[in-house]
Amino acid sequence: MSPSPSVDAHTRERIPVALLGATGTVGARLAQRLTDHPWFELVEVAASERSEGSRLGERVAPDAALHPRIAGLTLRSPTADFRSHLILSALPSGAARAVEAELAARGHLVVSNASAYRDDPRVPLIVPEVNADHLALLDTVREAAAGEAVPAPGGGIVTNPNCAVAGLMPAVAPLHRRFGIERLIVTTLQAISGAGRPGPSAIDLVDNVVPYIGGEEDKIAAEPAKILGRVEGDRIVPVPLSISATATRVPVLHGHLESVSVQLSTPASPDEARRAWREFRAPEAVAQLPSSPERVVEIADHPDRPQPRLDRDRGSGMTVTVGRIRPCPVQTLRFLVLSHNLERGAAGAAILNAELAVADGRVRSQL
Ligand code: NAP
Repeated sequence: MSPSPSVDAHTRERIPVALLGATGTVGARLAQRLTDHPWFELVEVAASERSEGSRLGERVAPDAALHPRIAGLTLRSPTADFRSHLILSALPSGAARAVEAELAARGHLVVSNASAYRDDPRVPLIVPEVNADHLALLDTVREAAAGEAVPAPGGGIVTNPNCAVAGLMPAVAPLHRRFGIERLIVTTLQAISGAGRPGPSAIDLVDNVVPYIGGEEDKIAAEPAKILGRVEGDRIVPVPLSISATATRVPVLHGHLESVSVQLSTPASPDEARRAWREFRAPEAVAQLPSSPERVVEIADHPDRPQPRLDRDRGSGMTVTVGRIRPCPVQTLRFLVLSHNLERGAAGAAILNAELAVADGRVRSQL
């Protein structure tokens, strides 16, 4: 993949984009990030039938502070006829399953935050700094199974990981590449905004920790092996990687903190791990994308870091922070990782994937 010469913001018109689930927590973040985007222009928005016909600005949370042009867009059904080839989806998984497949069958490229297709071995699950090459799955022609909508040429679905996995991967991939990871144990302390709107009630969460997030641990256990896997024919073959995950919800607004212990195939000291993180770079074509942070991973050496309030906004929310790196008395190493769940974990991740698709020559201006 090489960066497309056609994506110079000064010499080309911006690419029109449609946004599904635009009124939600992730949708509003996407609308904000798209406001001044050098390549994309948000021109079409959709939400549930409850919102259809309203202006986006009337249906988002009051603190979304959208640009007046974007706030004035009229909400449509997610199955409407969109003129944009590129569609960003922030739908709940249930709605995403039928809608995204139908749009791909009509020839749209759907870049999705939802979990509906993440575990399908034929659908790319991408963290551009780690597995941009998995985008090649979009080139494989699919045999239709009974009742299955098959993507039309130029159409397809690209997913980004669960928000805890999106934050974990920039820390895990450099260690896996250099030393091999056999087993990983992770306990997450996940922010409230990760639950979307309305999310857990204040009375349940203030002065409390909820030691369960439905469905989360299975996603954290499964997605990293697919992301680190390789393309074989029309599917991804995951790496062998055993993960034990415990997911908790804590009263933090944004920023997932994760406590990680890894068993490495080749033993490594904390300093060798630090070197692997410091030397980790996105492929050149990915590093040039507008939403790529200057550094994918930063190391916080102070013993009481990373902290959500202090570290989540590094690199406009796209840099993950690793700290408290130390030997593990049970496995090889342990450390903490912090990431912004709505940026690296959702809106920023989806936009980076969309930029990757543009740079890879997969996005047209119109359907
Ligand atoms: P959310 O705040 O609940 O927003 C959901 C959005 O989807 C709203 O725009 C809603 O529209 C729309 N919607 C709901 N039911 C629908 C239906 N049946 N048909 C069409 N539209 C429907 O959720 P969120 O937190 O933004 O999450 C969106 C997606 O991103 C989910 O799949 C989630 O798992 C994923 N995700 C979230 C995060 C995070 O940190 N929050 C991170 C990674 C991935 P109305 O306003 O009209 O109801």
